[in-house]
Amino acid sequence: MTDEKSVVADKDVQAEKFGLEVMVDEYACAVADQQAPPTGVEATRRFYKRYALRQEAMAGVGEEPACGKGCSYCCHTRVSAPAQEVFVLADAIGRLPPERAAEVRARVSANAARAEGMDAATHSRTPMPCAFLDEQGACSVYDDRPSNCRRYHSLSKADCEKSFSRPEDLTSRIRLNTSLLVANVSSYLGYRKVLVESAVDTSFFELNSALREALADPEACRERFDAGQPAFTDATVCVPNGTMI
Ligand code: SF4
Repeated sequence: MTDEKSVVADKDVQAEKFGLEVMVDEYACAVADQQAPPTGVEATRRFYKRYALRQEAMAGVGEEPACGKGCSYCCHTRVSAPAQEVFVLADAIGRLPPERAAEVRARVSANAARAEGMDAATHSRTPMPCAFLDEQGACSVYDDRPSNCRRYHSLSKADCEKSFSRPEDLTSRIRLNTSLLVANVSSYLGYRKVLVESAVDTSFFELNSALREALADPEACRERFDAGQPAFTDATVCVPNGTMI
């Protein structure tokens, strides 16, 4: 018999099954990448490409996200990223026009210094424009943005505006496309599982503090990462090494 409860349960089972399929597929691709053997940076770039293809494949499934170029409410909050994603961003800064690159570097340092005295909750509730936002409110390193930025989306610009204008209000909620969320999280978990199983440092760092260090001493950070050690010595750790999130 089909009642409301069993329809909801069926949908949950379908979502779980779909998520598992995406995760297993991404896991297989990421394993192949690790066997290449790539640097953490190359594996991450390939993961970003696969991720973009999955996003394209999800177009039209569920409600369309309200996100668009120039809407940057979500780019004023605390972002965390693992070392190899920080290196991808550091390389992207190197490809920016020199004036823009110098500006971004200065803003990274200023944001890192400002966040230094804050705990995670205070930082999350303190609107701080990301160092990569340009004058039009667009991400100047969009193709290289961290996985946490990629996963984020919203079905309502009004929800985001409300959350942005009242950061202290912890009851604010952003509506999401559940199918897209399941696909995005599953894809990331497949990739993440391979990293956790390998010897690399998988800690997540506060983006500004990690980037400041990666820009100041790129060789030392990458050497430590390649040797399986913590890539950064001063950056703020948000999620410890080995955690599956
Ligand atoms: S890296 Fe780009 S997408 Fe992520 S918060 Fe900064 S401006 Fe926004």
